[in-house]
Amino acid sequence: MAPMTKHAAPRRALQWALAFLVTNASLGDANACTLAIKNVAVVAMTTPAIARDQTVTLVGAKIAAIGPAPDTSRCGMVIDGRGGFLGPGLTDAHVHVESGSFAPAFGAQPTPIDFDDVLALYPAFGITSVRVMSGARDILRFRDRAPGTHPVPRLVVASPMIAGRPPILAEPVTLVVETPEAAHAAVARFKSEGYDLIKLRENLRPDVHAALVAAARDNAISLDGHVTRGVAVDALLAAGQRGFAHLDEIARAIASGGTSAAALKRHGAHVSSTMVVLDNAVRQIEDYDGLASRPQMRALHPMFVDTFWSRAQNPYAKPGVDAAFFKQLLALTKSTLHDLTREGVMILAGSDALNPMIIPGDGLHEELRLMVEAGLTPYEALRTATVNPARVIGRLANTGEIAPGRDADLVLLPANPLADVAAYRRPDGVVLQGRWFDRAALDSRLDDVARRFR
Ligand SMILES: [Zn+2]
Repeated sequence: MAPMTKHAAPRRALQWALAFLVTNASLGDANACTLAIKNVAVVAMTTPAIARDQTVTLVGAKIAAIGPAPDTSRCGMVIDGRGGFLGPGLTDAHVHVESGSFAPAFGAQPTPIDFDDVLALYPAFGITSVRVMSGARDILRFRDRAPGTHPVPRLVVASPMIAGRPPILAEPVTLVVETPEAAHAAVARFKSEGYDLIKLRENLRPDVHAALVAAARDNAISLDGHVTRGVAVDALLAAGQRGFAHLDEIARAIASGGTSAAALKRHGAHVSSTMVVLDNAVRQIEDYDGLASRPQMRALHPMFVDTFWSRAQNPYAKPGVDAAFFKQLLALTKSTLHDLTREGVMILAGSDALNPMIIPGDGLHEELRLMVEAGLTPYEALRTATVNPARVIGRLANTGEIAPGRDADLVLLPANPLADVAAYRRPDGVVLQGRWFDRAALDSRLDDVARRFR
């Protein structure tokens, strides 16, 4: 800062002062505090403890410091978090996102997707990262774009789903692979196109499955997906598969002797939970209209809502589909979740959002509710959406906890989430890669999106 002379006019002094603030806070000094949240209770998620009356300061998109009373006078923006709780943003490790290329497979009109719009629900629900489990090139391009101004989560993008014949979902949503040679070629291509992981779906031949796992290892890309029909999970583990996309498939495999909690733990497996799929199946059979009238439905793109979510096409809302089957499978899956957690198997909270009636964002909170019903503590449940995905998903390695140097993806909550996970449902504000969005901004963004979709 230049020294002022005694002749400087007051107006000039003000200009200097403003220049200093701008320079210090946002332009010149790379170590300047850009945002502080003060007087807040910090839920770091590294331990079940809460640190009260803290101030968290950020420099750009990183957490700089946490302490009882640091100086915030030079911070670009200061939020008073009095009475609130600051937690890490949540990760939904199993979602689907509309792609322009999916439309024909679902009988919808081909349309370019505005990803700023279809992803808006996630931050409104405190979710700052999502792993997209059925990728496409337009989603990849959005992941790699220059940052925009709208609130959207970080994206981790799986390859298009690889399946044997017949695939349940038509190409290009799925890629059919029927030989080991084609398996190696597909994995190498998806790696070179920039996908974060390989996604397996159904009806793969065992030799094709083994080739896919070997190719993923050779190409240094992770792999996650369904249990291949007719192959024991222990054999999939022995072949090298570590990621499993649906806990209910693992629950059935354990119940039938195909694997065990100890084997999953020994191999370092990780399992996404997706119990809300089963819970929602029951609710669609028993009360489709109740689900269809939820307020967030207005902020959903019509591509899936008007096709396989509709009463006419929805696989669960058809007459003769048995709620008892899904209730029983949900009960088995919940008790398996409890056992795997006690064994220390890595669980990732996943909602399978955009499956019929699973609303992006809302679905993850339903998943956390089901985890607590299954006997997990709120702390254990929340770790599956914070610390655990950071350990398993390379692109998210620096997220998931509040500590200096971590990514500044934060959520300001109105109540203690370690007493009730539902405190995460409606944040007072969200920090996305260092940028603050208050509740009013998140809500008005959803209003904008709803106006465009309906
Ligand atoms: Zn899925």
